[in-house]
Amino acid sequence: MTKNDANPMSPAQRLKDAPRCHARAKSTGEHCKAPAVKGWAVCRVHGAGGGAPRGRAHWNWKHGERSAEATRLRQLTNMLARFGRGSGTLN
Ligand SMILES: [Zn+2]
Repeated sequence: MTKNDANPMSPAQRLKDAPRCHARAKSTGEHCKAPAVKGWAVCRVHGAGGGAPRGRAHWNWKHGERSAEATRLRQLTNMLARFGRGSGTLN
C-alpha cells in the first residue's frame, strides 16, 4: 500500500473526491466539473437543493384545500358519489 499525503479531513480533499456535476454547458458541450452536492447529481449552481418546499412548508400555503392530497381525496369522493348515483361509468 502506498502512502497517501492527502489529508482525509481536509474540505479541499473531500471536494476533490466528490462525484462531479452532471450538468453540461450548451456552448462547449463540456461537463461542469464542479463537485456535486451530496445526494444530488448536480452542483450548487446547477440546481442542487432547488425548488420550492412542498406542502405545508411552502411559504404560500393557506389552508391546504388545494393541496395535491386534498385534490386527490376530493376527486375520489366525487368519483364514488357519481358511482353511487349509478351514472354507469367511473369517469
Ligand atoms: Zn454544475
